[in-house]
Amino acid sequence: MIWRSIEKHTGMQVDRLIRDKYTVVIGLEVHAQLLTASKIYAPDSNQFGCDPNTNISVITLGHPGVMPKLNKKVVEYAIKMGLACHSEISPVNIFDRKNYFYPDLPKGYQLTQDTTPICQGGYIPIRLKNGETQEIGLFKIHIEEDAGKSIHAEGESDTLVDFNRAGVPLIEIVTKPEIISSVEATVLLSEIRRLVRYLDICDGDMEKGSMRCDANVSVMLNGADQLGNKVEVKNMNSIRNVQRAIDHEIKRQILELEKGNQIPSETRTFNDNSGTTSGMREKEQLNDYRYFPEPDLSPLIISKEWLADIKQSMPELPRQLLDKFISEYQLPEYDAQFLTDSKTMAHYFIELCELTHNYKAASNWIMGPVKSYLNDNGMGMSDFPIEPKRLSDLIKMADVGKISFTVASQKVFPQLLSNSNITADAVVKDLNLVQDSDTGNIQPLIDEVLASLPDKVEAYKKGKKGLLGLFMGEVMKKSEGKANPRLTNELLKKCLDQSFEQPLKGYRKRN
Ligand code: ADP
Ligand code: MG
Repeated sequence: MIWRSIEKHTGMQVDRLIRDKYTVVIGLEVHAQLLTASKIYAPDSNQFGCDPNTNISVITLGHPGVMPKLNKKVVEYAIKMGLACHSEISPVNIFDRKNYFYPDLPKGYQLTQDTTPICQGGYIPIRLKNGETQEIGLFKIHIEEDAGKSIHAEGESDTLVDFNRAGVPLIEIVTKPEIISSVEATVLLSEIRRLVRYLDICDGDMEKGSMRCDANVSVMLNGADQLGNKVEVKNMNSIRNVQRAIDHEIKRQILELEKGNQIPSETRTFNDNSGTTSGMREKEQLNDYRYFPEPDLSPLIISKEWLADIKQSMPELPRQLLDKFISEYQLPEYDAQFLTDSKTMAHYFIELCELTHNYKAASNWIMGPVKSYLNDNGMGMSDFPIEPKRLSDLIKMADVGKISFTVASQKVFPQLLSNSNITADAVVKDLNLVQDSDTGNIQPLIDEVLASLPDKVEAYKKGKKGLLGLFMGEVMKKSEGKANPRLTNELLKKCLDQSFEQPLKGYRKRN
């Protein structure tokens, strides 16, 4: 699909046969801004969205003689991510200066970790479409500071610079070149986002720029023993754009190679409007940055005790919850995936399952009425106004047949949403919604409905069995949703099947 849309937008045609001659290789570099109160080496606030240049102490501005001081939370957060990704945690950490000149980098260097990243190796398992799990290896996760922000405002000939972001703590997750398609890259990226959110270390919001992804892409002829030159693509502000950028890049590279050209190693930028990438700069040589150890920070030693404490504080991760939902709650994988997508959702569901033991019913409620409500109102689970206890009471009532699902979801649920003090029980009593399981009440409604739809009854008799749903719907409507659906269904069928032999009065079309 995406390939086709690229063709449409760019006029670039790549024959499937040609494409299939090549193997795609992708590695991601993902930056995540950490949700600490203060910056990485300075006490300035790390709050997003403040007025420009308000969180800028002399340390952030790199005045001569100031000393950086490492924020302990940053280290803790980076270690948490490393543990979640099965990385080795380096006991001894050195920080390095990465030197380059840029207007939004007041110190003239970025304080990062070059040779001793805090997390080494590791992997992130992703679930592929065919249900299999693939582990994507990591080179490392390291700690570093963000730069400020240059602002090129429209109609403004000068470039403005906001240093609030300078010194904001980042982790950079660097994967091995083990990803083989744009889809895999997006699945991995979603998983990384889910992990940082579960760990509460980053809000994972790519649109806001608090999570950013550079995609390194290369192609090579199938079976080649050397990887192709990689191109690094930047400036994708959503997971979908990462996919678009990669797909465009794969195509562009294949076309170049097919023309007999080389692919230069370079950095390219993605353009959201055209869906294409264009060259920014030739990739700097590694030694251009003149890394050297930061003399103003002593080596960071991570004691066994500290590491043990952090391990102790790790929350359950999405993968563990997914397994729990499948094995303990016996839910289908689809449900479990949906329910573990966010931590708030997963924890809400766990609470719900402690109150009602019909796990599948609970899941259906979340994936049905609750999800619709959240979608319609552009809300997340943390804004959902019904606490697990009130929802579980409603689920139980529907489950034991006291009220029908229709009444529960269409009449009681909205009341619970709009009134935080009211219980399901009170709504059912107030509105007199208890399900009617009395044949004596339902049968007359059935008779009325069948009498009013002689054509349809005829059609049913001729074999259009699907019409049962229509009759059901009509009876339910007449009962104001209160008729017990199972009983109604039984009675209806009995009635209709009887009428084969002995049409009741009024069923025949009058001549
Ligand atoms: P550099 O030294 O140029 O920064 P690295 O080895 O540090 O390169 O890798 C940076 C990123 O590029 C990693 O995510 C890695 O997986 C990816 N990468 C490396 N080589 C390739 C390649 N040939 N094709 C695609 N991605 C690659
Ligand atoms: Mg690198």
